[in-house]
Amino acid sequence: MRLVLASNNAKKLVELQALFAPLGLELVAQGALGIPEAEEPHVTFVENALAKARHAAQAAGGAAIADDSGISVDALGGAPGVLSARYATLFGRPKGDAENNSVLLEKLQGVADRRARFVCALVAVRSADDPEPLVAMGRWEGEVISELRGEGGFGYDPLMFIPALGRTVAELGAEEKNRCSHRALAAVQMQQLMREVWHLG
Ligand code: IMP
Repeated sequence: MRLVLASNNAKKLVELQALFAPLGLELVAQGALGIPEAEEPHVTFVENALAKARHAAQAAGGAAIADDSGISVDALGGAPGVLSARYATLFGRPKGDAENNSVLLEKLQGVADRRARFVCALVAVRSADDPEPLVAMGRWEGEVISELRGEGGFGYDPLMFIPALGRTVAELGAEEKNRCSHRALAAVQMQQLMREVWHLG
């Protein structure tokens, strides 16, 4: 079965393709089909993921899956949250991972409570007006350290230290990240839902 992925983030596509391969699903990025990015006007990950999935399903005329994810920092009241991808732009800085990381470090300067989590909402729909979207959430607990460590991954990975593993996410291999990440946890739940409700696999 072909599923349109409502994202043009190449690294997310690679992670999700690996995670959904066991179900025999072919994930195609919406950009490859000429589908533009949807608006993400909502304040929660799940609402934005639903909006993105509906938009892609409408444009593609078929099933779609969307990921909305980010980092939620306790001492910042959950920020950057749904604004993770464009956090730096809120402070007049250019958009990009390096700028986002640098702004986050500034905001946490002198802050002792460094607890944070990566959050991923995955929403899948069979059509734009599917009355029963499949919704899965994954969370990955960690701490924001005060300097970048590691070369792998993307986004906030070099700042996110996972105490249980003794490393930042950027210091994990791709396979290891894909075993433990917020996206992996959401994907496992989503696969279970797809087996039960969509009769896949
Ligand atoms: P979205 O594409 O609107 O869902 O934005 C996701 C943003 O959250 C990315 O640009 C990253 O900044 C951050 N993010 C999401 N997942 C991860 C991850 O696995 N590692 C690091 N940062 C992530």
